[in-house]
Amino acid sequence: MQRCPFCGWPDDDPVTTVSVHPTPSGVTMWTRCVCGSLQTRVLRGSRAVICARSRPADQAAPTV
Ligand SMILES: [Zn+2]
Repeated sequence: MQRCPFCGWPDDDPVTTVSVHPTPSGVTMWTRCVCGSLQTRVLRGSRAVICARSRPADQAAPTV
C-alpha cells in the first residue's frame, strides 16, 4: 500500500475529499491528507491512482 511521503498516512484512506470531477478519461478526485497535502487521484475502475501530490499545507506557498 502506498503511504503519504510526508506523514505516512495510508493513501487508500483519504481524509478529506475536496472535489470530484468526471472527465472523458475517468473521474478525477482531489483529496487532502491529514498533513494538508493535496492529492490528485484518477479513478480507473475501482482503483484510484494518485497522479500528483502537493507538499503539506504548512510548507506550501499561500495561494488563497
Ligand atoms: Zn500526509
